Amino acid sequence: ISAASMVVVSNRLPFILKRNEQTGQLERKASAGGLVTAVAPVVIKGKGIWVGWPGIHLDDPNEPIPESDPKDRTPTAGLLSKQVVPVHCDRHVFDQYYNGCCNGTFWPLFHSMPDRAEFSADNWRAYVKVNQEFARKTMEALEKVKEENPSATPTIWIHDYQLMICANWVRQAAEEAGIRCKMGFFLHIPFPPWDIFRLFPWSDEILQGMLGCDMVGFHIEDYCLNFVDCCQRRLGCRVDRKNLLVEHGGRSVRVRPLPIGIPFERFVQLAESANRVMLTNQQIVLGVDRLDYTKGLVHRLKAFERLLQKYPQHIEKVTMLQIAVPSRTDVREYQELKEEMDQLVGRINGCFTTPNWSPIRYIYGCVSQDELAAFYRDAAVALVTPLRDGMNLVAKEFVACQINTPPGVLIVSPFAGAGEMMHEALVCNPYEIDDAAEVIHRALTMPEDERTLRMNYLRRREKVHDVNYWMRSFLKAMGTLITEDGEET
Ligand code: UDP
Repeated sequence: ISAASMVVVSNRLPFILKRNEQTGQLERKASAGGLVTAVAPVVIKGKGIWVGWPGIHLDDPNEPIPESDPKDRTPTAGLLSKQVVPVHCDRHVFDQYYNGCCNGTFWPLFHSMPDRAEFSADNWRAYVKVNQEFARKTMEALEKVKEENPSATPTIWIHDYQLMICANWVRQAAEEAGIRCKMGFFLHIPFPPWDIFRLFPWSDEILQGMLGCDMVGFHIEDYCLNFVDCCQRRLGCRVDRKNLLVEHGGRSVRVRPLPIGIPFERFVQLAESANRVMLTNQQIVLGVDRLDYTKGLVHRLKAFERLLQKYPQHIEKVTMLQIAVPSRTDVREYQELKEEMDQLVGRINGCFTTPNWSPIRYIYGCVSQDELAAFYRDAAVALVTPLRDGMNLVAKEFVACQINTPPGVLIVSPFAGAGEMMHEALVCNPYEIDDAAEVIHRALTMPEDERTLRMNYLRRREKVHDVNYWMRSFLKAMGTLITEDGEET
């Protein structure tokens, strides 16, 4: 896939900078996410630029970005330092923007948990300020790519809830500078229904910001319709629900469902080469999540407890393995959740453990990609039961790694984007603990041929609709897909 002169704008750069304690030099630390894997090659090949926060507050914002380490084999290794525009902000303002507004307000609100959201004018002001700074840097990047390739029409791609009001300023500045470009936005989390969205005091500014783009993408159609609805009701825009169009400022903005995928083949390869890490004959019920209140972890543990109460035949035969990756540990809600989980795991284990077996293995920490692939491969059941989740990649990674015969079973919540399209998975409403226990029991006792049939369909879909397919769909929706031989389609 290629596209000339793409400017990608995201809260974080595709790598972070760390200062080497010994040498005092800045060094790149690669990140391995699927998004970076798909998008970085397009930026590299098309001589584009990535705009974002480098993960460190520098005393001297002009300190140069280091080139990548010659031994670096990650997807961002080919990203030259001139293809990176770092955004720097005052530490305190950045904290109000990131921990305050993004994670303290938008995260819970957009996941339809308004009681957890705090509404602070100070934090909102910081959000505006940081978005303005991102817009200024994006404009710098746009001028640079234009200089490099004057005949191209650059595509600007802004990512996620941290940067919802950036686009309008960029559009205005580009118009003033006489630079033609196409602008797209993608939201990686849900877009809430009007009744929830309207609770945000400055909701009109969010919509106007997003409508600065030519195309706005979400994971699933429900989020698209919520957005269209909010534009109509809050801004009075003329909308076309059938074709997903919003009229704004004399322009017609396209709204598109673009469900993200995973690097499918990479996970298959990892699963093929990873060693066995769980030396047990137990059936493993697996959960892999950031420790976040949207993931339904407390409900999940209670459902597993209920399973053991209702179906004691699983005692000493089934183990739950829950990986909880530490996340946003500066935010109180997350600290409280950690406490609650520790207690609950202790209580359930205390209740059911025998001399030879404990029901729950709980890892509070990160695991390596190899280990993760082995867990996915060797689990009998994956429990993906968020209370709300934009997509959920764990569900997709699990099916990619299910290369053993007979395969395991995926259980997914209907409140995750993944639940919307992985039709052959078992569906479980995480709020209904009793039913969730029943669904886990059904998964653990499902006949082999049914498991095989379901998993085959699930894998086939994810293989075709992988993260590169998503990248291509975005470019297509923008009207900028260029084929390998350079022809625009
Ligand atoms: N993951 C990871 N290290 C771990 C456990 C998980 O990097 O120890 C990854 C996992 O492979 C997946 C991502 O974290 O790609 C979680 O993505 P998801 O969409 O499920 O949830 P999010 O954390 O983005 O809300």
